[in-house]
Amino acid sequence: MTLKDYSSAAARKKCVGCGHKTSFNSKIEYYNHEGGWLVENFNVRQWLYVKCLNCHYDNALWKLGVPGAVEESKNEWARRIVVEYRE
Ligand SMILES: [Zn+2]
Repeated sequence: MTLKDYSSAAARKKCVGCGHKTSFNSKIEYYNHEGGWLVENFNVRQWLYVKCLNCHYDNALWKLGVPGAVEESKNEWARRIVVEYRE
């Protein structure tokens, strides 16, 4: 997957912060992160997120339902499952 592919995968998803669908631009932000996604043409994993133009929330791609991140996402999902189970 290239950055462009990830960008396409993240497009038109709902922002975690405000729920708006169309407030993303197509630009994906990224930085070196061991727990991030494998991206073509990068030597190390990249943490990928899309900044919402409406509320400025940084939506990590796994929150938008784009799989590929390691560790952090697993922990976050596990935490979320526990919270949901309790409710
Ligand atoms: Zn938003």
